[in-house]
Amino acid sequence: MLNMHHQQHKVKPRLVTSRVWLLLCLLGIAGCGDEGPVSEKADTRSVSSMGKDHQDGEWLLHGLSQGEQRYSPLARINANNVNDLALAFEYRDFVVRGRTERGLQATPLMDDGTLYFTGPWDVVYAVDARTGEERWVYDPDVDGARARVACCDVVNRGVALRDENVFVATTDGYLVALEKGTGEEVWKTNTFVDRTASYTITGAPRLAGNLVVIGNGGAEMGVRGYVSAYEIETGDLEWRFYTIPGAGQDETIDIARARKTWSDNMPWEYGGGGTVWDSMVYDEKLGMLYIGVGNGGPWPAWERGDGAIHDNLYLSSIVALDAETGLAKWHYQTTPGDSWDYTATQHMILADMEWDGEVRQLIMQAPKNGFFYVLDRESGELLSAEPFVPVSWASGVDMATGRPILKENANYSKQDRVITPAPGGAHNWPPMALNLDTNLVYIPAEERSGKYATYDDGRGYLSGSRNTRALSTFPNAKMDADLLEGLPPLRLHSQVIAWDPVRGEAVWKSESQLPFTGGLLTTAGNLVLSGSSAGFFNVFHAETGALLKSIEVGTMITAPPMAYELDGEQYIAVLAGAGGVALGRYHPEFAPVKYRNQGRLLVFKLGGNTVPLAPLKEAPIQNAIPAGLPSDAETLLLGQEQFERHCVRCHQPRGFPSGYPDLWNMSPETDEMFNEIVLDGVMEYGGMAEFSDILTSEDALAIRAYIAADREKVRRGEVQADRIQLH
Ligand code: CA
Repeated sequence: MLNMHHQQHKVKPRLVTSRVWLLLCLLGIAGCGDEGPVSEKADTRSVSSMGKDHQDGEWLLHGLSQGEQRYSPLARINANNVNDLALAFEYRDFVVRGRTERGLQATPLMDDGTLYFTGPWDVVYAVDARTGEERWVYDPDVDGARARVACCDVVNRGVALRDENVFVATTDGYLVALEKGTGEEVWKTNTFVDRTASYTITGAPRLAGNLVVIGNGGAEMGVRGYVSAYEIETGDLEWRFYTIPGAGQDETIDIARARKTWSDNMPWEYGGGGTVWDSMVYDEKLGMLYIGVGNGGPWPAWERGDGAIHDNLYLSSIVALDAETGLAKWHYQTTPGDSWDYTATQHMILADMEWDGEVRQLIMQAPKNGFFYVLDRESGELLSAEPFVPVSWASGVDMATGRPILKENANYSKQDRVITPAPGGAHNWPPMALNLDTNLVYIPAEERSGKYATYDDGRGYLSGSRNTRALSTFPNAKMDADLLEGLPPLRLHSQVIAWDPVRGEAVWKSESQLPFTGGLLTTAGNLVLSGSSAGFFNVFHAETGALLKSIEVGTMITAPPMAYELDGEQYIAVLAGAGGVALGRYHPEFAPVKYRNQGRLLVFKLGGNTVPLAPLKEAPIQNAIPAGLPSDAETLLLGQEQFERHCVRCHQPRGFPSGYPDLWNMSPETDEMFNEIVLDGVMEYGGMAEFSDILTSEDALAIRAYIAADREKVRRGEVQADRIQLH
């Protein structure tokens, strides 16, 4: 395997000898059925049984088991009675800053009768798991200006728990330990190496032995990715692993290896990317921490140096670190020379399963690039790589080299190309789930195509801004017909896919859904559960995929459900609220187009109450268009350019539905305050930071003028809202 870097360390496939098997058997780690050491159901449990996980119906770790399988052994709610699933209680008292109700993406944890979860702005909530009654709320008072450099909303994917502490990471870079009983701060540490760089955190911290580990995001914004590990009691930094070389002198053996795969002319002011913004999994037995590394920055590999395409380690890779030292043991690069925002930050699952007649310790991932990977997690050996959705950038993966076989269509350096998957990926952060009864991995899969194009606005790197030097839009079937020849049909939808990781093929696929399907939970009740962007909570039969129950809630759900049990009652909890990248542009059928996007924790049980729909959105008052602004062509063009460069990341033009304030219906009072908002930062607390570093008062006036003039055009029916661009 070329991707195996420790040649001297090349490990022979580990055989489970009968003696080892007997030991595992006695320790209760492996199942000991009549069929001997190849019982798949039993084998997969070995990782989940390490450490305290779901005893007493609790949910203590982000992915429930240490291998993050998200398989609940609870079965009181099952395929036979799930039709009676209804509301136990809900909690809605989330902190909202300014006018934007933001997304909820966390997995609630349940420990000793209390649910711990995060909402927007990294606020931590502890509520009674029987009633939803609030016990405490911790608000880290995040710097509102960080929202400007967050790629996709101010969201948080949850806390970690250990003994008497709760750990949370914040958008503005702090890792905080709280007292579990009170929410009081125990310690708080800055994790950002450069607080002027555009780093943000959205991910949940993970525990690895005596360490709390956290990464960050910002690959589009000009940062260099890394992961930091802190001592759990004190918050002292133990080690830091950089995912890419950077310009600095901090040469480790891992960095030296990576540097050989980058151009000497890499413009490091662009950061390089490689952020670890979501998935990390710890294997206590092997002492390894697996991290999923993000895309390159700028996006096109040929823009990262001398014009040639280099592999650029460890972009888009799974890296196995020695959890004690933070040094790499092995790596596997899913997308060498990433040019498509194909992160490998997606959820990774650990399980021990039978593979060609022997039990192997596996790691599985379905990253953005559309292939489902299975590797031996001790050696890094690639075992399987099969596409789980149609892909147009590669025809397959060469199993001898581990490298994708690129299609000509993948290269958009000379011309625009329509490529599948789009930058949003065939699978994004919503977690998968591995059912230990069916041995299937359920994937919240997305199918979408992107028209990739490079751009050069002549400005070079711009701090605090997007610096991708490429963009992707949803293709137009008519206008882009020539680019679409010979490609899979244009798609913009999602599906739950039941994937057999051993055979490398889908067993069932759910009905087509709107884009942005929710993260998954699977249970011993033969269930697969997830929310949808249309505002439904859906329950599928784990074996057949039949839709057993669909509860309309009127709130978009992308967070993964979890399950717990108390006093003999099983509950299913899920956070609801549109956010993340979806907040910037709604599909017309998304729940928040019709209903108010209020954050909710929904908790279900058998025989509960009807779930109240979210309140209907009120039609906004139509505000007068400000008059007296400049209308010359030069000013309007400058305004449009600056709007499209800096504002459109959140604010959609022409009233296209989104979760952010509609500037095409700006009140005259807001327009009068435009400079104070855009240049002085008076709305910073709500997430609207100042832009005085890159916009002048002349720019601000031009943006106002452009918006006002365009609003007149919309009112006269001369222009319409753009076609959908989800990416
Ligand atoms: Ca990215």
